[in-house]
Amino acid sequence: MATIANKSQNLLPRPPIVVILGHVDHGKTTLLSYIRKAKMPTEPGEITQSIGAYVITHNSKLITFIDTPGHEAFSKMRQRGAKVADLGILVVAADEGVKPQTKEAIGILNESETPFVVAVNKIDKTNADIERVKQELMQAGVLLEGFGGNISWQAISAKTGQGINELLDLILLAAEMESLTYSPEAKAKGIIIESKMDSSRGLTAITIVKDGILKVGDEITTTSAAGKVKILEDFLGKRIDQLSPSSPALIIGFETLPQIGEEFFSGKIDLVEIHPPHNEIMWGVNPPQKEVGGQPVPSNTQAEKKINLILKADVSGSLEALSEIIKTIPNVKIISESVGDITDGDIKSAQNTGAVIVGFKTRVSKAAENLATAQSIKIITSEIIYELLKNLEDEFRAIEKPAVIGQLEILAVFDKKSGKRQVVGGRVIFGTFKNNLSVQIQRQDQVIGEGKIVNLQCQKQDVSQVSEGKECGLLFESDTIINTGDLLIY
Ligand code: GDP
Repeated sequence: MATIANKSQNLLPRPPIVVILGHVDHGKTTLLSYIRKAKMPTEPGEITQSIGAYVITHNSKLITFIDTPGHEAFSKMRQRGAKVADLGILVVAADEGVKPQTKEAIGILNESETPFVVAVNKIDKTNADIERVKQELMQAGVLLEGFGGNISWQAISAKTGQGINELLDLILLAAEMESLTYSPEAKAKGIIIESKMDSSRGLTAITIVKDGILKVGDEITTTSAAGKVKILEDFLGKRIDQLSPSSPALIIGFETLPQIGEEFFSGKIDLVEIHPPHNEIMWGVNPPQKEVGGQPVPSNTQAEKKINLILKADVSGSLEALSEIIKTIPNVKIISESVGDITDGDIKSAQNTGAVIVGFKTRVSKAAENLATAQSIKIITSEIIYELLKNLEDEFRAIEKPAVIGQLEILAVFDKKSGKRQVVGGRVIFGTFKNNLSVQIQRQDQVIGEGKIVNLQCQKQDVSQVSEGKECGLLFESDTIINTGDLLIY
């Protein structure tokens, strides 16, 4: 069964995606362009274009660099919960040492749990003081190798190229420790690192693929945008048919502009795929009548069942995006959608409509949380659209279990007749119980057996059926001995 979650069998190694962070003027741009010029495989006459990321070869291994100096883009990605870089290089100028933005960068790397190496830059300068930098780094909590920590460091000059090969060696070593892999069978996913309206080409998005293989013709979705990959170009501006991780790519085909830092997923977000039509009861549009408990299921009870949802999001933009994606899911009905925290009012309306509450980037008020627990109202919240959809999928699976349409509680056990027959008394909680009906026996939420109603009596008179709320006597045939408190269900 296809699922929205990427399958992770058959994993292949992928190159590391590296981001360079550090204080302004400490040499991030110079380092990026040195590596780019020295290490990028270019063919004669090839026009290189800047798409915010590039791939180099070092010791026959690939490394992807995010070429967005400054950590603004990186922070944005982090704010959106996306983790684009596998590794970081923290650049600190040897003449200036640790500065406020160095500390900020350390904070970002630590918070996002991105492993990093340190490049002590500008060592060609006469006033370079590597020892001072190392001490300041230790004071800022960066525990360097050789000083009781395990963070590797390399003295470099982004100007002369000194130490850069060794720095790249360290990056490959760090990447090896991370065991970075991808699944070629998974749906492609990755992160938008740039997007813009190009006057000649239309909407363009620069992405880095992190899993699966992205192909021309793939449907593509982010939280705020969707489209179809019409043109795919690699970081050299070459048109290609498909891309594997950790490749940067330019995509043309978005119908609206995706935002920097958003994750993208290939393939339509369509829960038909998650629930293929094998389960007609839940998902079929015009399902055949299905026999349950020997009785045909009325077509208007289970067959066209829709799942009601109440949508909440932090701002109208997110709400719109959430709503757009949810609308592509079949058999889902949006009862209401609004901006703001999830309140007890939302829980009450969920209670009235039997809805599940879906919150995107919103909080749940304490009162709402308490009420939801008391009323068993399901709330699904996340900061990441993909995660929300996955949780929704789980919810659908839970609901997917065939619903019980008749339930009778055993109130008394009278007699054990010959063979498999027993005389019991009970009350119909809901549904209608008829003679010859096959039912299941449920004890403490577990089905423990099955049997058949041989005879029904109401007030000592034989009857053909007993409806909701009525008490009755039953002659019941089963291998399982019934106890008081058991339920008969169908
Ligand atoms: P960024 O703000 O971190 O991207 O820093 P830049 O790469 O723009 O570098 C700031 C200045 O430092 C520029 O004038 C660079 O030429 C200079 N610079 C960068 N790296 C080195 C280096 O290794 N040695 C020397 N001497 N100057 C450098």
